[in-house]
Order: sequence, then C-alpha cells, then structure tokens
Amino acid sequence: MTTSIPSTMHGWRKHMGSPDPVWEEVAVPQTPPTGFLIKMLASGVCRSDHSILIDEKPRPWFEKQFTLGHEGCGTIVRVGAQVRSDSKFKVGDVVALDAVPGCGFDDCPECSRDVSQLCLRCQHSGIGQDGYHAPYAAVDQRAVVLVPEGVTPAEAAVATDAVKTGYHAITRRGEVKAHETVFLFGLGGLGFNALQTIHHIGARVIVSDVKEELLEEAVKLGIPRGDIVPVGKSPTEFIIENGLDGKIDTVLDFVGMHQTFHDAQVIVRRGGKIVCVGTLDHENVVDMKNGIRKRLSFIFSYGGQLDDLEEVLELISKKVIQPQVVGKPPSEFPATLQGLLDGQIKGRIALMYDQ
Ligand SMILES: [Zn+2]
Ligand SMILES: [Zn+2]
Repeated sequence: MTTSIPSTMHGWRKHMGSPDPVWEEVAVPQTPPTGFLIKMLASGVCRSDHSILIDEKPRPWFEKQFTLGHEGCGTIVRVGAQVRSDSKFKVGDVVALDAVPGCGFDDCPECSRDVSQLCLRCQHSGIGQDGYHAPYAAVDQRAVVLVPEGVTPAEAAVATDAVKTGYHAITRRGEVKAHETVFLFGLGGLGFNALQTIHHIGARVIVSDVKEELLEEAVKLGIPRGDIVPVGKSPTEFIIENGLDGKIDTVLDFVGMHQTFHDAQVIVRRGGKIVCVGTLDHENVVDMKNGIRKRLSFIFSYGGQLDDLEEVLELISKKVIQPQVVGKPPSEFPATLQGLLDGQIKGRIALMYDQ
C-alpha cells in the first residue's frame, strides 16, 4: 500500500488575495506522528467553502495558502509513529473526518470547557489549514470516527458538517425534546438533515422555506401538510391562523436573514428559545423589549463534536437520517460553488476521488 502513494497531488486551494479556488499541484502531506494519512474517498462541498474563499480577514490560524474542504471521508493508508499500538484504528479503515477535533489538552481554555470545536490549537482542516478537497489529507487521531456499515463515503463526508452541525444545535444547544413544538426556518444543505433529526426526536415541527420543492420533500418525510407554511405566506400570520400563537417552544433558524430572525422573535412563545445556525445576513436586530418581556433565550451554535459525529453516523446507518448527497468529480468544484450561491443545489454535492 505504501509504495502506491504518490509524492504530489492536485487539490483545490485557497490563495490569500484571490476569491477563486486554485487547482494546484502540491506535495502529498506527511503522516502526522499522532495521526493518519488518509486517502480521500469523498469531500462535501459547503457554502462555507465560498465564505472562506472570500474571507480576507482570516482568523489567527489561517495560512496564506491551504487546501479547501472541511467535510471528509477516506481510508487510513498510513499510521503515525506515535499513535498508540492499541489504537482502534488501522490501515484500511474507512473513517469520517472531523475538521476541528480540538487538541484535547486539559490546559486548553476551549477543550477543557467542552467547546472543542472552538479550539485554537488544533488543525482546522479546510478552514485556514489544509483540508479535504484533494486525494490525500493528514489528520490527527482525534479527528477520525469509523464509518459504520450501510453509510456511503459521500454520506459520511457530509455527516461531518451538514448533518452534525444541525444535530449539535438541536440536541445539545437547543435541547429540543419530544414534547416540544419547534419552528424550523430553512430546508437547505443543513436544514433538511435538521428536519430529520427533529422528526426522530419526536417533536412537532412547523416548517418554512421559500422553495416549494423543498417543502414537498418535507411532506414525503411525513410532515403533515398542515404543519408546512405555504410559500409566500407570512409565518407570523400562519402561526396565529393555525392556533399556534404562544405554542412555539423553540425556533431553529437555519437561514439567519433579517426576516427570519425578526419572525422568530415574534412567533416564539414566552420563555422560549431561538437557536441561531444560519448567517445569510451577517447582522440582525434583537428587539430588546420583546426579548426581555418574553424572557427569551438566544442560543448560538457552531459546528459540533466527535460524539455528535458518532451519533449522526449511527442514525444514518439506521436510515433515521438520510442525507441528500450526490457525488461529482473534483473538477466540478467551481461549478458546484456557483450552484450553491445561486440556490440551484438541493441537498449536498460531494467530490469523489479515484480509488
Ligand atoms: Zn461546512
Ligand atoms: Zn484545544
């Protein structure tokens, strides 16, 4: 296996100063001492890839040039010299890759406070440092989760962000329970997986999106038509007309536009929660009087953690969550990014690598 690993490869890279991805020849990464060299099977294309490409005010760990891609699945082809011999991972294992696994050290301000996804010390694959839109990637041993039976590489790749981020927001941040009534804004790349997660928890969910076809997908999933806000209908009016005023325990905003964030504050019940995941508008307005009088909780969520990834992979293997993902050759990356920006892509696209 070792002899078949080339010394160079082509990948999609960010160059600071350019908003366009660069298809570039780079060295195949070294195997990290405490990690693995991965031969990639699939890497999910995310709208965040575009945000990262146009971000010229990078965060502290950003490098001048790096390989994009933060949703990955691949096969372990080399094991680092310091990986413990009783590690449960070995050459040949197919693993899902967490882009920001945290350093795990007790003296880390973030990892020691259970927010490893905010760790500043660990590798940030595809988010300022080399990631997964290339045939090989180097990852720390903390970043990998075995892919269970029945989960395809493309599904495993998108599980690492498009499924996990919503799952973390719903279960750990919003703590949504079966007895709740939830309002979900947005059935895009993350929202549709979020809908399946809420459905699995057993909470009643009212769904809103601007696209008819996505609402039809929700119907196919078993969401009653009466719980779907028709396209063009104001959510605030829908809530009143359907006797739901004061009954929305949690609003999950996977859109994050002025309108959705405004509506969320109106429709949420007194004492309710608003969970913010989407950021289509970078700044939104909080109605202070409304927020205080209703004693609202505004909860922000970012990414997720390794246990979330293990749980969502398990749910995907049981077909409880079925991520919508289509495989494409790596050459389709620029067109896919454009499609995401134009709202032309339903679900997710994963780049697939030659085996
Ligand atoms: Zn992403
Ligand atoms: Zn850390």
